[in-house]
Amino acid sequence: MVHGSFRSLSPAGLLIDDVVIERDRILIIARCRAAAGECPDCGERSRRVHSSYERRLLDLPSHGRTVQLRVAVRRFRCAMPGCPRRIFVERLHETVAGKSARRTLRLDAIVHHLGVALGGRPAASLARRLMLPVSKDTLLRVVRRHASRASRDRSPLHVIGIDDWAWKRGQRYGSIICDLERRRIVDLLPDREPATVEAWLSCHPEVRVISRDRGGGYGQAATRAAPQAVQVADRWHLMENASAAFLEAVRRSMRLIRMALGNITIDPALLTHAERLQHDGYLRREEAYGIIRALAKTGTPIKEIVRRTGRSRKLVRDIVRGGGGDVFRCRSNLLEPHLAWLDAEWSAGCRNGAELWRRLHKTAGFRGSLCVVAEWTTRRRRAESAGSERLRKPPPARALSRLLSSERDHLTKGDAITVARIERAVPVLVSARDLVERFHGMVRDRDPHALPAWIADAAGSVLASFGKGIVTDRAAVAAAMTQPWSNGQTEGQITKLKLVKRQMYGRAKLDLLRARPGAPT
Ligand SMILES: [Zn+2]
Repeated sequence: MVHGSFRSLSPAGLLIDDVVIERDRILIIARCRAAAGECPDCGERSRRVHSSYERRLLDLPSHGRTVQLRVAVRRFRCAMPGCPRRIFVERLHETVAGKSARRTLRLDAIVHHLGVALGGRPAASLARRLMLPVSKDTLLRVVRRHASRASRDRSPLHVIGIDDWAWKRGQRYGSIICDLERRRIVDLLPDREPATVEAWLSCHPEVRVISRDRGGGYGQAATRAAPQAVQVADRWHLMENASAAFLEAVRRSMRLIRMALGNITIDPALLTHAERLQHDGYLRREEAYGIIRALAKTGTPIKEIVRRTGRSRKLVRDIVRGGGGDVFRCRSNLLEPHLAWLDAEWSAGCRNGAELWRRLHKTAGFRGSLCVVAEWTTRRRRAESAGSERLRKPPPARALSRLLSSERDHLTKGDAITVARIERAVPVLVSARDLVERFHGMVRDRDPHALPAWIADAAGSVLASFGKGIVTDRAAVAAAMTQPWSNGQTEGQITKLKLVKRQMYGRAKLDLLRARPGAPT
């Protein structure tokens, strides 16, 4: 008989008869406390023991040793007349172990958590260190069993997000369905065919809201198989689509852009320091002058413009009459008549600014300072080291599209010039950019009332086909601005799924993937 204090440690309903401590394990010999067994069929209690046998259960490790429970379980005869079951085995308490389980419930729970958190092989190696006697196959089996049990007793789904994810990048895609309310994966479908999604949806008539991308396939499937559900276009996808439409417009305008940028004579990379200061000033002035010109265009009197802008009367009058706009004043003009001569000398090999200035001063009567000539030579040197190839090549469409959509204040001066050039040469891009900004703002601020005006304006722009797509999907787009749901967390689940897939090595079967992320962690 075991010391009394062990009793309190014994699992529910069991009496411990003995504890055998071996070198690497502890054996706990026990039996059921109850005097009678209860027939699982008729519920009748019986004390008539037929026979008994030993049930072995692995338990949590203790004192650096694995622990095994050896429970003597009895077979009883059912005394109830007419009961089809004549002999039954006594059950262990429900908190100890399930029917025919080989691990106690508490060990099984740990094994399950390990399997969910780490996946087969890493979990098995950690389990070994924790003295939990389970193989990686057992781990995966436990994970699967828990998942199938969980899927059986699942509360109804109301709000789902659906998206595709890559089994193998660019080759095989599946679909992932998330419960957006409970923030968990509900199911994984083997492909992204509308028919597959339709089949799934028709088994879930309780779904009320479906958040999806704008690819079309999922939308179609939802319309056919779940007409009761509100479809919500995913906000991130909407923004992304708008940006992509703008990029496409930039691509189509590349010929015009190339022509506009080809004419550039000012490459800020080639400017000397002094010139760059002048140039910055020029850009600042241009901005101010733009405001004055715009006011003048609307018929605002000069007096009023002066009052509003705080500029001098003379300046405003000059601008309104078409003045302003010189980038570099005086200094370049001073050199102008001598440029051909300078070029020739440069090509002939004279590259010393001071020497060039001396000769200009002496032979041609040049009145400018040495600085002017020195700046010119600096610029020539830079132009040569930069290489003419790089200077003429406009940035790729993607970079331009980003520049055009950037806040003016965030642009470098060089980029600002590029943008200004493009805006002047291809005004349709300016209105397209404004449309995209309005669209983004509308989605961000959840303002569906702005949608009709936006659609009308987009129709006449270079974004017409994107606008048409929005019209086709109008209900879902409007829902994106009114419903709180979005696929953001679905994307998060996909990231998690990819991690799981990597951890599982070759064992990433659909059912296992379904099991792991959906289970508690
Ligand atoms: Zn019975």
